[in-house]
Formats: sequence, C-alpha cells, structure tokens
Amino acid sequence: MPELPEVETIRLQMEDELKEKKIESIKVLSDKPLKNVTLEEFAERVEGASVKAVKRRAKILIIELSTGDSLLIHLKLTGRLLYLAPSEPIEKHTHLIFNLNDGNQLRFWDLRQFGYVKLVSGKLSEAPELKGLGPEALELSLGEFSKLMKSKRSGKIKPLLMNQNFIAGIGNIYSDEALFYAAIHPERDVSALKEEEIARLYEGIRKIMLSAISYRGSSMDDYVDLYGKQGDFVSHHKVYRKTGQVCEKCGGSIKRIKLGGRSAHFCPKCQV
Ligand SMILES: [Zn+2]
Repeated sequence: MPELPEVETIRLQMEDELKEKKIESIKVLSDKPLKNVTLEEFAERVEGASVKAVKRRAKILIIELSTGDSLLIHLKLTGRLLYLAPSEPIEKHTHLIFNLNDGNQLRFWDLRQFGYVKLVSGKLSEAPELKGLGPEALELSLGEFSKLMKSKRSGKIKPLLMNQNFIAGIGNIYSDEALFYAAIHPERDVSALKEEEIARLYEGIRKIMLSAISYRGSSMDDYVDLYGKQGDFVSHHKVYRKTGQVCEKCGGSIKRIKLGGRSAHFCPKCQV
C-alpha cells in the first residue's frame, strides 16, 4: 500500500499539474470507487470546478475544489492516479476519468478496488475519514514524538507505528526500515523504549521518509507516480522484503515474522 512518501510524491506532482486547472467533464467507467455519492451528484458537483489545492492527510489525498467541496482519494492497496493525454489507451481497471481544461486527463485506476474517491462538502475536519487520525509523522518535533510514545502504556512498536490513529502516514515498509535504522526489534514494547531509542526512531522515520520522497517512493507492488513511473527508493531498503538476504550492518541474515497479521522484516542481531 502506498504510504506517506508515495502519496506525498503524487500530491507534489498533482499540485504541479492540476492547480488552477478546471475539471471540464468526468467519465465514469465504473462507479465502484464513488463511496458516498451517486454518479449523477458526483458529476453535477465536480464538473466545471477548478482545483484550488492538492493536500494530503496521512495516506489520503485531498483535492480542494473552487466550489468549496473536496475530493478525498485513498489509493489503498492498488490504486493509481495517472496524468495522461487522452490519446493514451484506457487500461483495464480504469474507473474514473477527469477531463481537464489543459487537454489532459487525470485517471483513477484500481485493480483490487479497495480505493475510494469521496466527495466532502463543508468542513474537512468533520470528515469521518480524517477525524480520528493521529499527528502527521513528518510534522512532529522530537519532543512531541517522545511524548506521544510515552502516552502509550503498552503495545508492540511495529503495529503501533502503523496505527494511523496513533501516528499518521507510516505503513509496513517504512515501519520496518525505521526500526532497522533505530536498531529496535519490531516486537519491543513501546513502554520499554529508552529515551535514546525513541530519538533514534524519530530520526529514522524522518530521514528515511524524506529520502524516500526524494526518490519518488518505493514501487514494490502496484504503486507508480502520477506519470506512471516507478519510485526508486526500493534499492535503498535495508530489510523490507529482504528475507534471507545479508544485513548491511552485521553480515547476518534478515528474518521475517508475522506480527498482528502483517509481516515484519528485521535483523535479529542488530535489532534487539
Ligand atoms: Zn544486522
């Protein structure tokens, strides 16, 4: 699933390409992604609107429209947003096409169809998708991050980092990578973390995710950027999906365990 660096990559590109552009018309090939609105209402409220800004909260993209409405887009497991010329072939699993006044199209593609496009009017802070989210992972100071970690009495660190209501934007890839950076075992209890471990984890989250954004994210499965290009951060992964490979730090072997229904990749020698 695209995480903060992948969604932020798309946001930056969308801000470049879509800002101030008008959505002239919409073509709906499948209304599956439209979760809270009928096709007719969607078209009526979005056609003719201009894009004021493209924002992000956690892994959710927010397109603010000139009408006061916003579109919330979650790519979930396999969603893609693509900026293409109308002459490009329409691939299978393309659900929505936004025709822009610059002559190009924004297309929403989703293989497994867990992604969504929701229309929100009024206050964004009231939207249920955004309401319970924790603080943005890259917007915390060290002091705030430390306080947040200490606010939890117990819980394994890896699932906690992935809990969007605790801290927003981190998923499977970047929790594995940040914990390796900080030399913390993914099953460690948050309450047992020392101050210097919390500081290393904070540094790891920032360094790794900011670097990942500069490489336009990690293309492991279906994620590509707005131009259909793969993100190049995968070659910088140290542990994620590297089971059995050699640990760069100690020469040991990367292991994989199941943790809370998900996989955790780590070095048992480096991460205690
Ligand atoms: Zn190691």
